[in-house]
Amino acid sequence: MDTTLAVRVTRIKPSPTLAVTAKAAELRAAGEDVLSLAAGEPDFDTPEHVKEAAIRALRDGKTKYTPVGGTPALKKAIIAKHARDNGLDYKASQILASVGGKQACYNVCQALLNAGDEVLIPAPYWVSYPDMALLADGEPVIIPTTAESRFKMTPEALEAAITPNSRLLFLNSPSNPSGMAYTRAELAALGEVLLRHPRIVIASDDMYEKILWADEPFANIINACPELYERTVVIHAVSKTYSMTGWRLGWSAGPEWLIGAMANIQSQSTSNPTSIAQEAAIAALEGDQACVAEMTAAFRARHDKLVAGLSALPGVHCHAGDGTFYAFPDFSEAMHAAGFDDDVAYANHILDKAKVALVPGSAFGSPGCMRLSFATAESVLDKAVERLGELLRE
Ligand code: PLP
Repeated sequence: MDTTLAVRVTRIKPSPTLAVTAKAAELRAAGEDVLSLAAGEPDFDTPEHVKEAAIRALRDGKTKYTPVGGTPALKKAIIAKHARDNGLDYKASQILASVGGKQACYNVCQALLNAGDEVLIPAPYWVSYPDMALLADGEPVIIPTTAESRFKMTPEALEAAITPNSRLLFLNSPSNPSGMAYTRAELAALGEVLLRHPRIVIASDDMYEKILWADEPFANIINACPELYERTVVIHAVSKTYSMTGWRLGWSAGPEWLIGAMANIQSQSTSNPTSIAQEAAIAALEGDQACVAEMTAAFRARHDKLVAGLSALPGVHCHAGDGTFYAFPDFSEAMHAAGFDDDVAYANHILDKAKVALVPGSAFGSPGCMRLSFATAESVLDKAVERLGELLRE
Protein backbone atom coordinates (compact mmCIF):
# COMPACT_ATOMS: atom_id res chain seq x y z
CA MET A 1 0.00 0.00 0.00
CA ASP A 2 1.30 3.46 -0.88
CA THR A 3 0.11 5.99 1.67
CA THR A 4 1.94 8.95 0.14
CA LEU A 5 -0.27 12.00 0.25
CA ALA A 6 -0.28 15.05 -1.98
CA VAL A 7 2.59 17.41 -1.16
CA ARG A 8 0.06 20.20 -0.57
CA VAL A 9 -1.20 18.39 2.54
CA THR A 10 2.24 18.65 4.09
CA ARG A 11 2.30 22.41 3.53
CA ILE A 12 -0.67 23.14 5.80
CA LYS A 13 -1.61 22.64 9.44
CA PRO A 14 -4.99 22.04 11.05
CA SER A 15 -6.71 25.12 12.47
CA PRO A 16 -5.02 25.94 15.82
CA THR A 17 -8.19 27.49 17.20
CA LEU A 18 -9.93 24.16 16.77
CA ALA A 19 -7.05 22.41 18.57
CA VAL A 20 -7.51 24.57 21.70
CA THR A 21 -11.29 24.11 21.65
CA ALA A 22 -10.77 20.36 21.34
CA LYS A 23 -8.38 20.22 24.32
CA ALA A 24 -10.79 22.31 26.42
CA ALA A 25 -13.63 19.96 25.47
CA GLU A 26 -11.49 16.95 26.44
CA LEU A 27 -10.77 18.41 29.88
CA ARG A 28 -14.42 19.27 30.32
CA ALA A 29 -15.44 15.72 29.38
CA ALA A 30 -13.02 14.53 32.07
CA GLY A 31 -15.05 16.53 34.60
CA GLU A 32 -12.86 19.68 34.78
CA ASP A 33 -14.56 23.06 35.17
CA VAL A 34 -13.05 24.68 32.06
CA LEU A 35 -13.94 28.20 30.94
CA SER A 36 -13.60 28.39 27.19
CA LEU A 37 -12.80 31.76 25.69
CA ALA A 38 -11.63 30.18 22.46
CA ALA A 39 -14.82 30.11 20.41
CA GLY A 40 -15.05 32.06 17.17
CA GLU A 41 -18.80 32.35 17.04
CA PRO A 42 -21.54 34.38 18.73
CA ASP A 43 -23.20 32.68 21.69
CA PHE A 44 -26.65 33.98 20.71
CA ASP A 45 -29.24 31.87 18.96
CA THR A 46 -30.04 32.49 15.28
CA PRO A 47 -32.94 35.00 15.18
CA GLU A 48 -36.39 33.42 15.16
CA HIS A 49 -37.53 34.98 11.85
CA VAL A 50 -34.47 33.50 10.14
CA LYS A 51 -35.23 30.03 11.48
CA GLU A 52 -38.85 30.42 10.37
CA ALA A 53 -37.74 31.24 6.84
CA ALA A 54 -35.69 28.04 6.74
CA ILE A 55 -38.61 25.96 8.00
CA ARG A 56 -40.82 27.57 5.34
CA ALA A 57 -38.22 26.78 2.67
CA LEU A 58 -38.22 23.13 3.72
CA ARG A 59 -42.02 22.95 3.66
CA ASP A 60 -42.13 24.66 0.26
CA GLY A 61 -39.79 22.06 -1.19
CA LYS A 62 -36.82 24.39 -1.69
CA THR A 63 -34.59 21.40 -1.24
CA LYS A 64 -33.00 21.00 -4.66
CA TYR A 65 -29.87 22.23 -6.44
CA THR A 66 -29.82 25.94 -7.06
CA PRO A 67 -27.56 27.84 -9.47
CA VAL A 68 -23.94 27.39 -8.31
CA GLY A 69 -23.55 30.99 -7.12
CA GLY A 70 -26.90 31.22 -5.34
CA THR A 71 -30.55 31.84 -6.28
CA PRO A 72 -31.56 35.07 -8.02
CA ALA A 73 -33.48 36.02 -4.84
CA LEU A 74 -30.40 35.63 -2.64
CA LYS A 75 -28.21 37.58 -5.05
CA LYS A 76 -30.84 40.32 -5.07
CA ALA A 77 -30.76 40.48 -1.25
CA ILE A 78 -26.94 40.64 -1.25
CA ILE A 79 -26.89 43.34 -3.93
CA ALA A 80 -29.44 45.37 -1.94
CA LYS A 81 -27.35 44.96 1.23
CA HIS A 82 -24.22 46.35 -0.40
CA ALA A 83 -26.12 49.24 -2.00
CA ARG A 84 -27.86 50.12 1.29
CA ASP A 85 -25.02 49.64 3.77
CA ASN A 86 -21.87 50.19 1.75
CA GLY A 87 -22.82 52.40 -1.20
CA LEU A 88 -21.47 49.72 -3.56
CA ASP A 89 -23.22 48.68 -6.77
CA TYR A 90 -23.01 45.14 -8.05
CA LYS A 91 -24.72 43.12 -10.77
CA ALA A 92 -25.83 39.52 -10.22
CA SER A 93 -22.82 38.33 -12.27
CA GLN A 94 -20.56 39.96 -9.67
CA ILE A 95 -21.93 37.94 -6.74
CA LEU A 96 -21.03 34.38 -5.75
CA ALA A 97 -22.73 32.80 -2.73
CA SER A 98 -20.56 30.16 -1.06
CA VAL A 99 -20.32 27.80 1.89
CA GLY A 100 -19.45 30.50 4.42
CA GLY A 101 -16.94 33.29 4.13
CA LYS A 102 -14.30 30.59 4.38
CA GLN A 103 -15.10 29.10 0.97
CA ALA A 104 -15.20 32.62 -0.47
CA CYS A 105 -11.60 33.22 0.71
CA TYR A 106 -10.58 29.78 -0.55
CA ASN A 107 -12.13 30.40 -3.98
CA VAL A 108 -10.23 33.70 -4.34
CA CYS A 109 -6.91 31.93 -3.73
CA GLN A 110 -7.74 29.04 -6.04
CA ALA A 111 -8.95 31.26 -8.86
CA LEU A 112 -6.19 33.85 -8.68
CA LEU A 113 -2.89 32.39 -7.55
CA ASN A 114 -0.17 30.72 -9.56
CA ALA A 115 2.89 29.01 -8.09
CA GLY A 116 5.14 31.59 -6.49
CA ASP A 117 2.55 34.35 -6.33
CA GLU A 118 2.88 36.21 -3.04
CA VAL A 119 -0.05 36.80 -0.75
CA LEU A 120 0.29 39.80 1.56
CA ILE A 121 -1.13 39.07 4.99
CA PRO A 122 -0.93 41.67 7.77
CA ALA A 123 -0.48 40.02 11.19
CA PRO A 124 -2.31 39.34 13.39
CA TYR A 125 -4.39 37.58 10.74
CA TRP A 126 -7.31 35.21 10.52
CA VAL A 127 -5.72 31.77 10.90
CA SER A 128 -6.78 30.37 7.54
CA TYR A 129 -5.30 32.97 5.15
CA PRO A 130 -1.72 31.61 5.05
CA ASP A 131 -2.83 28.00 4.66
CA MET A 132 -5.31 28.89 1.93
CA ALA A 133 -2.50 30.69 0.09
CA LEU A 134 -0.29 27.61 0.46
CA LEU A 135 -3.02 25.28 -0.78
CA ALA A 136 -3.14 27.38 -3.94
CA ASP A 137 0.67 27.17 -4.34
CA GLY A 138 0.98 30.79 -3.25
CA GLU A 139 3.58 32.16 -0.83
CA PRO A 140 2.26 33.90 2.27
CA VAL A 141 4.14 37.12 3.06
CA ILE A 142 3.37 38.11 6.63
CA ILE A 143 3.47 41.83 7.43
CA PRO A 144 3.99 42.23 11.18
CA THR A 145 2.35 45.03 13.13
CA THR A 146 2.80 46.17 16.72
CA ALA A 147 0.49 46.73 19.66
CA GLU A 148 1.68 50.37 19.61
CA SER A 149 0.19 50.83 16.12
CA ARG A 150 -2.96 49.10 17.46
CA PHE A 151 -2.07 46.14 15.23
CA LYS A 152 -2.69 48.16 12.08
CA MET A 153 -0.48 47.91 9.02
CA THR A 154 1.11 51.21 8.02
CA PRO A 155 1.38 52.26 4.34
CA GLU A 156 5.18 52.08 4.73
CA ALA A 157 5.04 48.49 5.95
CA LEU A 158 2.75 47.55 3.07
CA GLU A 159 5.00 49.24 0.51
CA ALA A 160 8.07 47.49 1.93
CA ALA A 161 6.45 44.05 1.64
CA ILE A 162 5.43 44.44 -2.00
CA THR A 163 7.52 42.72 -4.70
CA PRO A 164 6.89 42.05 -8.40
CA ASN A 165 5.39 38.71 -7.29
CA SER A 166 2.76 40.27 -4.99
CA ARG A 167 -0.66 39.19 -6.27
CA LEU A 168 -3.17 39.28 -3.41
CA LEU A 169 -3.67 41.25 -0.19
CA PHE A 170 -6.00 40.11 2.57
CA LEU A 171 -7.49 43.00 4.53
CA ASN A 172 -9.75 42.20 7.47
CA SER A 173 -11.35 45.09 9.31
CA PRO A 174 -12.72 44.87 11.98
CA SER A 175 -10.10 42.26 12.59
CA ASN A 176 -10.20 38.76 13.97
CA PRO A 177 -8.22 38.55 16.27
CA SER A 178 -7.23 42.13 17.15
CA GLY A 179 -10.71 43.72 17.15
CA MET A 180 -9.23 46.76 15.38
CA ALA A 181 -10.94 48.56 12.52
CA TYR A 182 -9.11 50.77 10.04
CA THR A 183 -10.45 54.29 9.69
CA ARG A 184 -11.40 55.54 6.26
CA ALA A 185 -8.31 57.78 6.23
CA GLU A 186 -6.04 54.85 7.09
CA LEU A 187 -7.58 52.79 4.30
CA ALA A 188 -7.15 55.68 1.87
CA ALA A 189 -3.44 55.81 2.73
CA LEU A 190 -3.13 52.05 2.11
CA GLY A 191 -5.12 52.55 -1.10
CA GLU A 192 -2.58 55.08 -2.34
CA VAL A 193 0.14 52.45 -2.06
CA LEU A 194 -2.01 49.86 -3.83
CA LEU A 195 -2.77 52.24 -6.70
CA ARG A 196 0.96 52.22 -7.47
CA HIS A 197 0.89 48.41 -7.77
CA PRO A 198 -1.85 47.49 -10.23
CA ARG A 199 -1.10 43.75 -10.16
CA ILE A 200 -2.35 43.38 -6.59
CA VAL A 201 -5.90 42.17 -6.02
CA ILE A 202 -7.46 42.99 -2.65
CA ALA A 203 -9.64 40.58 -0.69
CA SER A 204 -11.57 42.76 1.74
CA ASP A 205 -12.85 40.43 4.45
CA ASP A 206 -15.75 42.42 5.89
CA MET A 207 -17.10 39.59 8.02
CA TYR A 208 -17.33 41.72 11.20
CA GLU A 209 -18.68 44.88 9.52
CA LYS A 210 -21.70 45.09 11.79
CA ILE A 211 -20.00 44.21 15.08
CA LEU A 212 -18.41 47.62 15.39
CA TRP A 213 -18.44 50.46 17.93
CA ALA A 214 -15.63 52.67 16.64
CA ASP A 215 -16.11 56.45 16.46
CA GLU A 216 -16.42 56.22 12.68
CA PRO A 217 -18.95 54.20 10.69
CA PHE A 218 -17.71 51.16 8.79
CA ALA A 219 -15.70 51.73 5.62
CA ASN A 220 -13.83 49.26 3.43
CA ILE A 221 -10.96 49.89 1.02
CA ILE A 222 -13.33 50.58 -1.92
CA ASN A 223 -15.19 53.25 0.09
CA ALA A 224 -11.86 54.87 0.88
CA CYS A 225 -10.34 54.40 -2.56
CA PRO A 226 -13.05 53.86 -5.23
CA GLU A 227 -10.43 53.32 -7.97
CA LEU A 228 -9.78 49.91 -6.41
CA TYR A 229 -13.33 48.67 -7.14
CA GLU A 230 -12.17 46.79 -10.26
CA ARG A 231 -9.65 44.70 -8.33
CA THR A 232 -11.24 44.27 -4.93
CA VAL A 233 -13.36 41.33 -3.92
CA VAL A 234 -15.48 41.85 -0.82
CA ILE A 235 -15.87 38.74 1.33
CA HIS A 236 -18.88 38.55 3.60
CA ALA A 237 -21.24 36.13 5.34
CA VAL A 238 -24.28 35.93 7.55
CA SER A 239 -22.22 33.83 10.00
CA LYS A 240 -21.14 36.43 12.56
CA THR A 241 -23.67 39.20 11.95
CA TYR A 242 -26.75 37.03 12.46
CA SER A 243 -25.25 34.29 14.60
CA MET A 244 -25.51 31.79 11.75
CA THR A 245 -22.09 30.11 11.82
CA GLY A 246 -23.53 26.62 11.34
CA TRP A 247 -25.66 27.56 8.35
CA ARG A 248 -22.55 28.01 6.18
CA LEU A 249 -23.58 30.90 4.01
CA GLY A 250 -21.20 33.56 2.79
CA TRP A 251 -20.49 35.36 -0.45
CA SER A 252 -18.02 37.30 -2.57
CA ALA A 253 -18.78 40.50 -4.46
CA GLY A 254 -16.26 41.67 -7.00
CA PRO A 255 -15.20 42.06 -10.61
CA GLU A 256 -16.80 39.68 -13.11
CA TRP A 257 -13.48 38.31 -14.37
CA LEU A 258 -12.60 37.04 -10.91
CA ILE A 259 -16.07 36.10 -9.66
CA GLY A 260 -16.68 34.07 -12.85
CA ALA A 261 -13.46 32.11 -12.31
CA MET A 262 -14.30 31.55 -8.65
CA ALA A 263 -17.74 30.25 -9.68
CA ASN A 264 -16.04 27.76 -12.01
CA ILE A 265 -13.87 26.50 -9.16
CA GLN A 266 -16.90 26.20 -6.91
CA SER A 267 -18.91 24.42 -9.62
CA GLN A 268 -16.30 21.64 -9.57
CA SER A 269 -16.09 21.38 -5.78
CA THR A 270 -19.22 22.04 -3.72
CA SER A 271 -21.70 23.55 -6.21
CA ASN A 272 -24.29 25.75 -4.53
CA PRO A 273 -24.42 26.45 -0.79
CA THR A 274 -27.37 24.72 0.90
CA SER A 275 -30.68 25.80 -0.61
CA ILE A 276 -32.35 26.15 2.80
CA ALA A 277 -29.51 28.26 4.19
CA GLN A 278 -29.89 30.54 1.17
CA GLU A 279 -33.54 31.16 2.06
CA ALA A 280 -32.57 31.81 5.68
CA ALA A 281 -29.90 34.29 4.55
CA ILE A 282 -32.47 36.21 2.51
CA ALA A 283 -34.62 36.56 5.64
CA ALA A 284 -31.57 37.70 7.62
CA LEU A 285 -30.50 40.32 5.07
CA GLU A 286 -33.98 41.62 4.28
CA GLY A 287 -35.59 41.28 7.71
CA ASP A 288 -35.60 43.46 10.82
CA GLN A 289 -32.01 44.39 11.74
CA ALA A 290 -32.78 45.00 15.43
CA CYS A 291 -31.24 41.62 16.32
CA VAL A 292 -27.88 42.82 15.00
CA ALA A 293 -27.94 45.98 17.11
CA GLU A 294 -28.90 43.95 20.20
CA MET A 295 -26.06 41.47 19.77
CA THR A 296 -23.55 44.22 19.07
CA ALA A 297 -24.61 46.15 22.19
CA ALA A 298 -24.12 43.03 24.28
CA PHE A 299 -20.68 42.42 22.75
CA ARG A 300 -19.68 45.99 23.44
CA ALA A 301 -20.73 45.84 27.10
CA ARG A 302 -18.74 42.63 27.56
CA HIS A 303 -15.78 44.10 25.71
CA ASP A 304 -15.62 47.13 28.00
CA LYS A 305 -15.74 45.01 31.13
CA LEU A 306 -13.28 42.40 29.89
CA VAL A 307 -10.72 44.92 28.64
CA ALA A 308 -10.85 46.72 32.00
CA GLY A 309 -10.40 43.41 33.84
CA LEU A 310 -7.50 42.28 31.66
CA SER A 311 -5.74 45.63 31.84
CA ALA A 312 -5.61 45.30 35.62
CA LEU A 313 -3.76 41.97 35.46
CA PRO A 314 -0.02 42.00 36.20
CA GLY A 315 2.11 41.63 33.07
CA VAL A 316 -0.85 41.92 30.70
CA HIS A 317 -1.44 44.84 28.34
CA CYS A 318 -4.82 45.09 26.70
CA HIS A 319 -5.91 47.75 24.23
CA ALA A 320 -9.55 48.57 23.62
CA GLY A 321 -10.93 47.19 20.37
CA ASP A 322 -13.24 48.79 17.80
CA GLY A 323 -15.46 45.77 17.29
CA THR A 324 -15.77 41.95 16.84
CA PHE A 325 -16.05 39.70 19.87
CA TYR A 326 -12.35 39.23 20.56
CA ALA A 327 -9.84 40.84 22.90
CA PHE A 328 -6.17 40.44 21.99
CA PRO A 329 -4.04 41.36 25.01
CA ASP A 330 -0.27 41.11 25.06
CA PHE A 331 0.72 38.47 27.63
CA SER A 332 4.49 38.47 26.87
CA GLU A 333 5.51 40.07 30.14
CA ALA A 334 3.42 37.64 32.20
CA MET A 335 4.60 34.74 30.02
CA HIS A 336 8.29 35.54 30.52
CA ALA A 337 7.77 36.14 34.24
CA ALA A 338 6.34 32.62 34.47
CA GLY A 339 9.41 31.22 32.68
CA PHE A 340 7.84 30.54 29.28
CA ASP A 341 9.20 31.59 25.88
CA ASP A 342 6.56 29.95 23.81
CA ASP A 343 2.94 31.14 23.88
CA VAL A 344 1.51 27.74 22.86
CA ALA A 345 3.14 26.15 25.91
CA TYR A 346 1.98 29.11 28.01
CA ALA A 347 -1.62 28.81 26.78
CA ASN A 348 -1.49 25.12 27.71
CA HIS A 349 -0.14 26.10 31.14
CA ILE A 350 -3.04 28.54 31.60
CA LEU A 351 -5.49 25.85 30.53
CA ASP A 352 -3.97 23.29 32.90
CA LYS A 353 -3.60 25.57 35.93
CA ALA A 354 -6.39 28.13 35.63
CA LYS A 355 -8.74 26.03 33.48
CA VAL A 356 -9.19 28.92 31.07
CA ALA A 357 -8.96 28.20 27.33
CA LEU A 358 -7.39 31.00 25.26
CA VAL A 359 -5.89 30.89 21.78
CA PRO A 360 -2.14 31.70 21.64
CA GLY A 361 -1.24 34.68 19.47
CA SER A 362 1.24 32.67 17.38
CA ALA A 363 -1.79 31.04 15.73
CA PHE A 364 -2.48 34.50 14.29
CA GLY A 365 1.14 35.43 13.58
CA SER A 366 1.52 37.53 16.76
CA PRO A 367 3.27 35.40 19.40
CA GLY A 368 3.03 36.60 22.97
CA CYS A 369 -0.55 37.80 22.62
CA MET A 370 -3.61 35.73 23.51
CA ARG A 371 -7.02 35.85 21.88
CA LEU A 372 -9.96 35.82 24.26
CA SER A 373 -13.41 35.51 22.77
CA PHE A 374 -16.13 37.36 24.66
CA ALA A 375 -18.87 35.54 22.81
CA THR A 376 -19.77 34.00 26.12
CA ALA A 377 -21.76 34.95 29.24
CA GLU A 378 -20.50 37.85 31.34
CA SER A 379 -20.37 35.58 34.40
CA VAL A 380 -17.92 33.29 32.56
CA LEU A 381 -15.77 36.27 31.58
CA ASP A 382 -15.70 37.55 35.18
CA LYS A 383 -14.68 34.16 36.45
CA ALA A 384 -11.99 33.83 33.75
CA VAL A 385 -10.41 37.18 34.68
CA GLU A 386 -10.52 36.18 38.34
CA ARG A 387 -8.77 32.87 37.64
CA LEU A 388 -6.17 34.50 35.39
CA GLY A 389 -5.53 37.03 38.16
CA GLU A 390 -4.97 34.26 40.71
CA LEU A 391 -2.53 32.48 38.37
CA LEU A 392 -0.61 35.61 37.40
CA ARG A 393 -0.27 36.80 40.98
CA GLU A 394 1.10 33.42 42.14
N1 PLP B 1 -12.94 35.60 7.88
C1 PLP B 1 -12.75 35.88 9.17
C2 PLP B 1 -11.94 37.07 9.53
C3 PLP B 1 -13.29 35.05 10.17
O1 PLP B 1 -13.09 35.34 11.46
C4 PLP B 1 -14.03 33.92 9.78
C5 PLP B 1 -14.55 32.99 10.79
O2 PLP B 1 -14.04 32.82 11.86
C6 PLP B 1 -14.22 33.69 8.42
C7 PLP B 1 -13.65 34.54 7.49
C8 PLP B 1 -15.02 32.51 7.92
O3 PLP B 1 -16.35 32.66 8.22
P1 PLP B 1 -17.44 31.58 7.89
O4 PLP B 1 -17.82 30.94 9.16
O5 PLP B 1 -18.57 32.36 7.27
O6 PLP B 1 -16.89 30.61 6.91
